[in-house]
Amino acid sequence: MEKKNLDWSNLGFAYVKTDKRFVSNYKDGAWDEGVLTDDDQVTISECAGVLQYAQAVFEGMKAYTTEQGKIVIFRPDLNASRMADSARRLEMPVYPEEKFVQAVEDTVRANAAWVPPYGSGATLYIRPYMFGSDAVIGVKPADEYQFRVFVTPVGPYFKGGIKPLTIRVSDFDRAAPHGTGHIKAGLNYAMSLHAIVTAHAEGYDENMYLDAATRTKVEETGGANFLFVTKDGTLVTPKSESILPSITRRSLMYVAEHYLGMKTEEREVYFDEVQDFAECGLCGTAAVISPVGKVVDHGREICFPSGMTEMGPVTKKLYDTLTGIQMGHIEAPEGWIHVVE
Ligand SMILES: *Cc1c(COP(=O)(O)O)cnc(C)c1O
Repeated sequence: MEKKNLDWSNLGFAYVKTDKRFVSNYKDGAWDEGVLTDDDQVTISECAGVLQYAQAVFEGMKAYTTEQGKIVIFRPDLNASRMADSARRLEMPVYPEEKFVQAVEDTVRANAAWVPPYGSGATLYIRPYMFGSDAVIGVKPADEYQFRVFVTPVGPYFKGGIKPLTIRVSDFDRAAPHGTGHIKAGLNYAMSLHAIVTAHAEGYDENMYLDAATRTKVEETGGANFLFVTKDGTLVTPKSESILPSITRRSLMYVAEHYLGMKTEEREVYFDEVQDFAECGLCGTAAVISPVGKVVDHGREICFPSGMTEMGPVTKKLYDTLTGIQMGHIEAPEGWIHVVE
């Protein structure tokens, strides 16, 4: 198979139309078989549920080429079950989890020429999503849905080196208690756009959201979970019902405990404690971990000892171990690496 002629190492994070995408429709209470198609356009009613009342959920994961030359996907079964949870919360029909994994695998295989080669630092980003597609004007769930999977090649996240981020404590809330913060729904992102645009305009990379009820506890950013390292080397991540359960974060907690012999804690993290941590990072599929150098709370700066020039030592070890597992240098736990045959 001939690879596409792309400058892999200089790709950014932007949509590139690839050859095939998977489409399945839900009608009269059942999903059809689904097909791989060349057609990148979606045609739906002007009154579709997704357009009027934002009935849409999505997922994000990556495929890449390992050192051994195999195309693999990292833990797609967890994306399948998380999308099922998201769908149930928005009164959408679940796309069956085994069929989800199959659709993802089939879409990646059909676009194998777009999977970046080993060593390029680039990956193939996979975007499964689902939306209400028939007309809905009274507020209720749609009767018809479309499930799609497309892929797009994306460049190395840390192009030009790893630079720790500066983030601000946001005056906006991301998620309410008993709301939708724990599901991957487009609506959580629509309402975060104003907060991120204004953060960028003020020179910050990201927003740190606190819990909406008390504004005393750390939740997450707009699209990544927090990890903190205590001065005595324990890995801490905030526990809350309104945080999106990041697969990267869950994997890193496992790696910390079982590969690096660290103590780990998932617990409530009060904002007042943040100043006492040695390291801070943001984790998600895109970057694995981005180090945070500084948190700014209305003019008051909290600077982590790891500084503004490099990843802290524990963050680095976590990053190297998980990316080593993904790339095939380090043996993976059972079931983490899904090979595309
Ligand atoms: C997708 C997402 C994450 C990261 O999850 P991963 O499974 O690690 O990619 C974190 N927070 C939010 C709000 C997200 O939408």
